[in-house]
This record gives sequence, C-alpha cells and structure tokens, in this order.
Amino acid sequence: MKKHYLITPGPTPIPPEVSAKEGLPILHHRTSEFGTIFLEVLENLKYVFQTKNDVLLLTASGTGSMEASAANLVSPGETAIVASTGNFGDRWAKLLDTYGAKVVLLREIDGQSVDIAKVQDALRKNPDAKAVFTQHTETSTGVVNDIKTLGSIISQSNALLVVDAISGLVGQELRMDDWKVDVVVTGSQKGLMTAPGLSFTSLSPRAWAAVEASKSPRFYFDYRRMKKALADKGTPFTPGVTLIVALAEALRQIRQEGLENVWARHTWLANATRAGVKAMGLTLFAKTPCDVLTSITVPAGIEGKKIVKRMREEHGVSIAGGQGELVGKIVRLAHMGYMDRFDIITALSSLEMILSDMGAKIELGKGVGAAQQLLVKGPAGTR
Ligand SMILES: *Cc1c(COP(=O)(O)O)cnc(C)c1O
Repeated sequence: MKKHYLITPGPTPIPPEVSAKEGLPILHHRTSEFGTIFLEVLENLKYVFQTKNDVLLLTASGTGSMEASAANLVSPGETAIVASTGNFGDRWAKLLDTYGAKVVLLREIDGQSVDIAKVQDALRKNPDAKAVFTQHTETSTGVVNDIKTLGSIISQSNALLVVDAISGLVGQELRMDDWKVDVVVTGSQKGLMTAPGLSFTSLSPRAWAAVEASKSPRFYFDYRRMKKALADKGTPFTPGVTLIVALAEALRQIRQEGLENVWARHTWLANATRAGVKAMGLTLFAKTPCDVLTSITVPAGIEGKKIVKRMREEHGVSIAGGQGELVGKIVRLAHMGYMDRFDIITALSSLEMILSDMGAKIELGKGVGAAQQLLVKGPAGTR
C-alpha cells in the first residue's frame, strides 16, 4: 500500500469537493447553464486578483498566459525590462526574446529578491521601455518580490508592470489595483486549488492600450479576440469546461474562507515550516522567503536529488528539488493552496527521517516539534 502526499509547489492537492465537480457531465460552453458558472468564475477571479479589471481565462497552463502577455504587450524591436530572480524570471526573458523584444535582463543571484534600485536605474537608462516583467513569488528559489514598491515606482514611468503570480496569487498578499500592477497572470494548479490546465490574465486600461498597439503576431492567444468574446460573456474557442466547473467550486471555498484569512493561513504554515527547518539545523535558501513554499539548502555531503527520490518512493511524499543551476542543491516544500498543518508535519517528518537515514546530522522530531509549537494555535491565534 502506498499513500500519496503531494507537497510540491505545483501542481498542488485539490479539495475533494473540487475533484468531484470534474466527474459531472460535460456542459456545452454556449449554454445558459455553463454561462452562469462562467460569470460566477469571472466575478470571483476579480476578487482573488483584487481588481476591478476583467480577468481573461485561457485554456493553457500558466506559461500560456505568460506567452500571451509577451506577445500582446510588446512589439518586435521594443524594449522590455525583465527583473528576474530565478528560472521563472528567465522564462520571461526567453519568451520576450522569442517575440523579438529587446530584453534588458536584470538577473539577481538565486535566493535574492528583485533589487528595486536596479529597476529604477534600468528605467532611467531605458525611458522607452514598454514594460517591466517580474515574478510575485519566484517558485524556483522561494523568494517573494516587493510588488507594492515596484508598482508605486513603475506606475510613475511610461512602462507597465507585468507580474507572474502563478504561484503567489491567493497564497500571499497581492492587490492588483491598490498596488498599481498593470498585468497579473496566474494558473489554476497552485493557490487556486484546481487541476492544471487553465491560466488567467488581468490587464489595466494602460495595459489594454499596449495590447491594441502591439504588432506581434498572435491568433489563439490574441487578447483582443478574448476581450471581444468576453463582451458576449464567452470565450473565442472551446474553453476547458470541466476545469472551469471545478474552479467555480474552488473559488467558492476561497471566498468563504476570505482572501485575507487565506493569506494568513499561508503565513502561519510558512512560519511553522521555516521554524521546523531551522530547528533541524538546516538553512533556508531564500533571503526573503515567500509564504507559499520553503526552499532549503541541501546539507553538504548529501545528494539533493536522492532526498526527493527517496521521500517519494519510500514515503509517498512528493516534494520538489532544485531547477536549472539549483538541481541537487536545494529542496522545496510547498504550503500552497489546499494545505493545512498536517501537510507541514508530514513533509518535515519525512524529510527528517530520510535525511537521518542518509547520514545527515539530524535529531528525529526536532524539526517537527518546532513546527508543532507554532501549529498548536491556528493562524492569528484562532482554532
Ligand atoms: C508554476 C509556475 C510557472 C509555470 O506554470 P505552468 O503552469 O507550468 O506553465 C510559471 N511561473 C511561476 C512563478 C510558477 O510557479
């Protein structure tokens, strides 16, 4: 018998009420039955994005919304600043390069967050820059970026602020309108507690002007086409109806808990995870750790890839290793979406057992105990 525990930073586990919706008969997308659910989803998406702008729904994984944004916002030959803090930031640079943009890449060392002064400097040196592309939470390293400050600075320039919040949205505070963010993209399989396959983009009026002006080629991912269909309360092509019906349920649950309470739950789980990791004698990898995952430096002499493999194969516990340059050097535990205190206990306990068995200097129970101390009470002293 093997029981599975999905503790990766995407995809994430989904509530049973959400998976149950996926078994319902398929609805045709041009019916009033589906239309009602679709409109409810669009309204609730505005709530989780904290925006009055429309949210576009794309049937694609999160990268689909990233690619669509690169194509719809920047014309070939125009300058785009990329403030990258890791693998997903680098993806912005690759996508923009693919669409012929002139990319100014500001790349932080892995584990560091965006340096605001460097962005200010790049804006001064590139007054014609169309946009600054960055991440809310950089999932490859586990850092959070200061989007609020970036928004206050970039909104005073001619450039747009485009934020990949694929892992951060819902899990960590992000207020699109109040923080003056022009474009936010996310996906269904992380904080939104739904299966992979949908992505979302919301655009400010300033960003819509860029969409109209963009000369990049696009068809399926043309935001203008999506906007037109949205005016008729639909999508230009067949959307992932099954996923949308499931997402409607996930969004209801988020609304019921309340977005600020969801953020507080993630902070609570993040604090307990970090305390557990430190009590085990391990080091946090991120200098400014986000609330949706914890990245941990693999102790010297231990093979990082083996930790992940053994936790999965022997305990059924899936966590993530490092990506790119960080393969084997870090491991990543998620506390994102449909997660509670026992997901943290499970992950830390499995990590302790495997590390101890691999010969690391680990005292069993120390990390778990430290996490438990912070998990006796619920978020902000509740439960
Ligand atoms: C998961 C993730 C992506 C990629 O999303 P896909 O759904 O795999 O296409 C991009 N950016 C960030 C920050 C992510 O966490």
